[in-house]
Amino acid sequence: MAAAETIHVDGVWQAAASGAQREVLDPADAKTLAVVAEGGVEDTDAAVAAARRAFDQGPWPGTPVAERAALLRRVADLLQRDREAIALTESRDTGKTLEEGRVDVDDVTNAFRYFADLAAGESAGRVIDAGTPDVHSVVVHEPVGVCAMITPWNYPLLQASWKIAPALVAGNTFVIKPSEVTPLSTVHLVRLLAEAGLPSGVANLVTGTGDPVGARLSEHPDVDLVSFTGGLISGTKVAQAAAPTVKKVALELGGKNPNVVFADACATAEGFDTAVDQALNAAFIHSGQVCSAGARLIIEESVRERFVAELARRAEKIKLGRGTEDGVECGPLVSAQQLDKTEAYVASALEEGALLRCGGKQPEPNAVRPATGYFYLPTVLDQCHREMRVVREETFGPILTVESFQTEDEAVTLANDTEYGLAGAVWSADTARARRVAARLRHGTVWINDYHPYLPQAEWGGFGKSGVGRELGPTGLDEYRETKHVYENLRPSPVRWFAG
Ligand code: NAD
Repeated sequence: MAAAETIHVDGVWQAAASGAQREVLDPADAKTLAVVAEGGVEDTDAAVAAARRAFDQGPWPGTPVAERAALLRRVADLLQRDREAIALTESRDTGKTLEEGRVDVDDVTNAFRYFADLAAGESAGRVIDAGTPDVHSVVVHEPVGVCAMITPWNYPLLQASWKIAPALVAGNTFVIKPSEVTPLSTVHLVRLLAEAGLPSGVANLVTGTGDPVGARLSEHPDVDLVSFTGGLISGTKVAQAAAPTVKKVALELGGKNPNVVFADACATAEGFDTAVDQALNAAFIHSGQVCSAGARLIIEESVRERFVAELARRAEKIKLGRGTEDGVECGPLVSAQQLDKTEAYVASALEEGALLRCGGKQPEPNAVRPATGYFYLPTVLDQCHREMRVVREETFGPILTVESFQTEDEAVTLANDTEYGLAGAVWSADTARARRVAARLRHGTVWINDYHPYLPQAEWGGFGKSGVGRELGPTGLDEYRETKHVYENLRPSPVRWFAG
């Protein structure tokens, strides 16, 4: 595969039809990391046509589920074989640490194995009791058809895998468009699918921008389903473009996630240390560029000062640098655009009266932080309130806002005071209270005394404007299947509804 032949159509790696290319930058120094094809409408249409042919005429949709599951397991093995190489690619492309890259490879390996087991373990259909022995009635699942997948830059391998694994095991064909900012691990993954023995045309990849490639996929009449992970603005456009063809739409959008800490969680030294440590992890892992980042600390007023002081002290010690360097705990932001956005949010928060407890600027360059990299210090903003932009909007940067409460009701009101509803956490030593609050949180994932873990067996997705549909778990497989009821009359006879 030549440098810019990153478009994969019908089993062939190729350059863009227009010959256009894009430089992918290393966010740690803004230097060129790779050159990829900049696909357009022509490439997208060719990829959809290949996926359509493979679905309508190819063997994949009719391949026994046991064989499809076996392919997923081979992909899982290949991911583990290439673990270091993929982790390095992901780290250099997104800026995340190498260790985070390794964790991502292990997580997606588990997702491929989970969907293989889930689909292979199912029965072929659900037999219905039609109330008469003369009828055989069964509900079966079938693939949806041609799936379009559009993914963001923060977890490129992970988001692609959460779509590809269930889509393939269900018998679909697909076209994927990774983010133009971080396309490299998806290219690697599609190579592994071919190596695992997937027939040509089943998996197609077009590298390129949201408009035109993502927009064309969303509106394309030959696409049956579009699964999108990304921001609210682009997701809304995808839904609008998909509407005229009434294709199925799955949206995994942003979040403005609360991390609610009750004073009783901090009553012991160990409890306090854990809650502070996890608040740091919630807000600053991957420099806050996580859809489920715990970007809003909502803390009981009686422990606020002690908690925030300790949080700021430890946030200042986070080691920032190139993600591939030993000892680095946090990488750069992914792009100049993300850096500008972060600076603008901090500036607006300070104008609106927030109190800067730490960070609030770019760090000094050093041996692991080139001056040209998009680094920004972990930032804690105290005395925030609901009217501030920084509290309402997803910043997607290393910014933690602090709000406080006096009562349980107030805590719940603040936590739910967002148009999003992706994830949130509650910290309390009182189990009854923690469960009571968790039950009232309007978010798709709620952690009690923890932050960030997810399981491939459990659904992931959001309430409100965090999206439509779910990934992972049995529902994540169902997104990629049609449900069909087959009613067979074993003793046909006239019904005589009409006399003549
Ligand atoms: P983005 O919306 O800018 O881009 C996401 C993808 O959509 C990219 O591939 C982009 O090229 C494409 N796109 C842009 N405009 C489009 C259009 N008009 N039509 C079709 N496709 C278009 O998002 P991003 O900045 O790459 O990622 C960050 C966002 O993703 C955040 O909001 C984050 O919360 C969200 N996210 C959500 C989840 C989740 O599981 N809910 C996971 C990861 C990221």
